[in-house]
Amino acid sequence: AEQITLTMPDNSTRQVEKETTVLEVAKGISTSLAKKSVGARFNNQLVGLDEPLIDDGTIEIVTKDSADGLAILRNTTAFVLADALKRLYPELHFGASADNEDGFYYDTDKADGQVAVTDFDKLTATMNKLIKANIAITKKPVAKADLAAQYKDDPYKSQLLKDAEGDAVEVYSLADGSFSDFGEGAMLPKTGGIKYFQLLSVAGAYWEGKSSNPMLQRIYGTAFYKKADLEDELKRRQEAKERDHRTIGRDLDLFFVDPKVGNGLPYWMPNGATIRRTIERYIIDKEVANGYQHVYTPVLANLDLYKQSGHWAHYREDMFPPMDMGDGEQLELRPMNCPSHIQIYNHHIRSYRDLPFRVAELGMMHRYEKSGALSGLQRVREMTLNDGHTFVALDQIQDEFKKILKLMMEVYEDFNITDYRFRLSYRDPANTKKYFPDDEMWNKSQSMLKAAMDDLHLDYYEAEGEAAFYGPKLDVQTKTALGNEETLSTIQFDFMMPEKFDLTYVGEDGKEHRPVMIHRGIVSTMERFTAYLIEIYKGAFPTWLAPVQAVLIPVKNDLHLEYVNYIKDEMQKRGLRVRVDDRNEKMGYKIREAQTKKVPYTLVVGDKEVNEVAVSVRKYGEEHTEEESTNMFIDAIVAETKNYSRD
Ligand code: ATP
Ligand code: ZN
Repeated sequence: AEQITLTMPDNSTRQVEKETTVLEVAKGISTSLAKKSVGARFNNQLVGLDEPLIDDGTIEIVTKDSADGLAILRNTTAFVLADALKRLYPELHFGASADNEDGFYYDTDKADGQVAVTDFDKLTATMNKLIKANIAITKKPVAKADLAAQYKDDPYKSQLLKDAEGDAVEVYSLADGSFSDFGEGAMLPKTGGIKYFQLLSVAGAYWEGKSSNPMLQRIYGTAFYKKADLEDELKRRQEAKERDHRTIGRDLDLFFVDPKVGNGLPYWMPNGATIRRTIERYIIDKEVANGYQHVYTPVLANLDLYKQSGHWAHYREDMFPPMDMGDGEQLELRPMNCPSHIQIYNHHIRSYRDLPFRVAELGMMHRYEKSGALSGLQRVREMTLNDGHTFVALDQIQDEFKKILKLMMEVYEDFNITDYRFRLSYRDPANTKKYFPDDEMWNKSQSMLKAAMDDLHLDYYEAEGEAAFYGPKLDVQTKTALGNEETLSTIQFDFMMPEKFDLTYVGEDGKEHRPVMIHRGIVSTMERFTAYLIEIYKGAFPTWLAPVQAVLIPVKNDLHLEYVNYIKDEMQKRGLRVRVDDRNEKMGYKIREAQTKKVPYTLVVGDKEVNEVAVSVRKYGEEHTEEESTNMFIDAIVAETKNYSRD
């Protein structure tokens, strides 16, 4: 019979008969490999075990313990889910589906109502029946033209069919003929190969991700070969949910967002406001100590300002529409503070002696973010940025960049932020709508930024199309509890706005020169930073940031409340935030509640403490209490908060 040549990952070659299957190739290598295998990458395409090989090519056997192995399992599970859905709801239409890093999803459109989490029991039972029956899954290519009629009443599937590459698609069918679906990716040979799966959630998802399109219901699930792996994943998801700043924000009464009064417009409750005020005071003090001059500028400005800055041309999609005041004036809510700070710079004639000129503000701004992107405090429509702009001479850029980075690192240390990546964000040269088409300016600023990072020997990755419209950025990327990547801090080089506003300074030579502008945000917006802190601390804020730093509990109100109130006064005089819990509840209950509210210190006062001028101290997360002299305890907690210490 005809032979083909297979090239293995180690570059060795093997001759096999044409139409040998992947499984036979795996067996030819070793029985243990064959046992673990679930498919292969053949010429870099994922294929199943039953795939007959008909051409020469490179081959790598895919095993259960690899990402590709999981992709095959999850693709198969999504197929079986689709089958179960069709059995339960014959009228249902399907949208897109995919497998990813931690599971799979399938989009659905049900004419009467929606698929909901309450359907999961039924769906899971139906899927389990299909799995138990261990039905073979077959694959064959079908010409798109032949399939079109079958999907003619199915708006999304027929679109997916049209969009699929080539003239034919792979159709997967259950061997009993009861169900078929077309799509990419490989599958297991039989439904019985699915071992451990779980349907997770349903969420709205716009068809093709466009908010002008209909909303479909996206069913999420995950699957594993090993029970322990599924259990680990479910545990990880549960922990992520518990860490989600929206959950903690509600439990600790920090903030709320009510779509009825405004989507993306958060309300800060006293507890959250205390955290925010502490961050604000901290960062203002820190910046003033680092040579920044803090200012206040209006959130509203004449639209012309944003026409001059370039925002109206390049950033309009993110801006609220102008307010027509009826007398010819158009007022605009600012989406960024840069044009405001430029006004401050330009208010006086500046000389080289004024540079670097550092201006900062906790600047409120408004951006019309897509409703689907809004999330708690992480992504909002009204936000207050820890903004700052420094105006420098060309030869001061590197130095100033280092200074900003140093400031950032000090701040990260104080907040104990350790898990982040640097991203150099460049323009996408093809996107001339967003980016100013001045090649020379972009090349110059991008290479200066890169050189500054290389000079400091810092690790980074590069991303095209993530720059601001006016210049490249160093972004500090962090992960949210739900696994999304978000920018926290940012430093941006800008040669463009100084041009647009004709900024100048008088040089040593007595002539006018053009300064360069560096935009920077250290702790990001108060909103995003607070969300981030909630998640990294899991709501257990370090003492200096905690809304309530200590709860005082008298053992008996009539005997000990007086001393408790004395301690409270002493602590408040020292600037500490204390609460007395004198409710008629059991002491154990009060202590437990202080723990669930994640208060750093619970202080219990009874006879012994009154006699010894002491308090019984229990730290958050610890089981034991320790008696300490009241004065020493107060001194220690004051020192702890001053040093931003973690314990
Ligand atoms: P993103 O890519 O996150 O939309 P951006 O690149 O548009 O942000 P900048 O204009 O650089 O952001 O804004 C400065 C900082 O403000 C960002 O790095 C981010 O930390 C924060 N930020 C931006 N948009 C929002 C928002 N909608 N809600 C909360 N914080 C935000
Ligand atoms: Zn700016």
